[in-house]
Amino acid sequence: MMKSILLTGTAGFIGSNFVPYFLEKYSDYKLINLDLLTYAGNLENLKECVDNPRYKFIKGDICNRELVEFIFNEYDIEGVIHFAAESHVDNSIKNPGVFIETNVNGTFTLIDVAYKYWMEKPFTYKEKYKKCRFHHISTDEVYGTLSDDPKDLFTEETPYAPNSPYSASKASSDMVVRSYQETYGLNTVITNCSNNYGPKQHDEKLIPTIIRKALANEAIPIYGDGKNIRDWLYVLDHCKGIDRVYHTGKEANVYNIGGRNERTNLQIVDRICTILDERVPKEKSYKELITFVEDRAGHDRRYAIDATKLENELGWKADENFDTGIVLTIDWYLEKYAI
Ligand code: NAD
Repeated sequence: MMKSILLTGTAGFIGSNFVPYFLEKYSDYKLINLDLLTYAGNLENLKECVDNPRYKFIKGDICNRELVEFIFNEYDIEGVIHFAAESHVDNSIKNPGVFIETNVNGTFTLIDVAYKYWMEKPFTYKEKYKKCRFHHISTDEVYGTLSDDPKDLFTEETPYAPNSPYSASKASSDMVVRSYQETYGLNTVITNCSNNYGPKQHDEKLIPTIIRKALANEAIPIYGDGKNIRDWLYVLDHCKGIDRVYHTGKEANVYNIGGRNERTNLQIVDRICTILDERVPKEKSYKELITFVEDRAGHDRRYAIDATKLENELGWKADENFDTGIVLTIDWYLEKYAI
């Protein structure tokens, strides 16, 4: 039996990697994609899916309740994987309002419609919708910042301490999802993932900026002293983790997803420049383009995920480490820029 599931925000970075992966792996899902196509969404990212009869794209806002209700009714939605968000920390510092609107109110709208569609039904229908799951995609940034002690890691029990309007809006959306599980018994799972990298990421983010600026022979901007640490995960490994949790994760549970690949921003830029020096050699090393710029306000120092729960309970493990994933990523950008 074909099941329709609603995926939001799939014209963005992670969603547009997830959709082709999921379509290919499962033949019994029809994927209804809802995306507003903000500056961050690009239908080009999904061009490989358009001919698939199990793929349907709808342009629209997750905050538009009427539209979301229409989609649930029209396609008899039996699951949600919710990617849509405003996702760039720098933008949240300049313009926090839209982050609260999309990330908090948008998540509320989706989950409230899901709850009403799946659970406020006469008994016979309730049986059918009993297993319907709302999977909320979130970030490790909700946990705040860590010390430099390598043993200090984010676990699912780490208290929330978001520091930017972006992370505060994602933390709030996680709490909305939690409340629908606790109050109404809706079947929910939340995944909190570390920094992703890979094909199709928006130009504004760190790794695409480094590659683009280097290839254009322009200054490569690095915030502050470049020693902020992030835990990097190749985007396809994130997609596989979401798949694993959506299908086998325990109801009402939170799973952290991370690649155990901590790197400072300086290590990232250094590695990318080394690979570019080999692949697209120029007279001078790309490293000479590195330029330190004023630090981001409230810049968290270190994020690192302990993914033990996902690894031990659900058997997930990242396939790529940073050294293999970054080569795949650079190859994709070299093809994109026809180099
Ligand atoms: P992205 O910014 O690349 O894509 C976001 C997508 O959401 C875009 O296609 C955009 O058009 C769409 N969107 C925005 N507002 C919308 C609205 N009101 N209605 C419908 N669609 C809307 O983001 P991403 O990097 O792909 O992140 C996806 C999810 O994963 C987000 O929830 C983000 O918080 C989370 N996440 C991202 C990372 C990362 O490193 N990129 C890490 C952990 C978690």
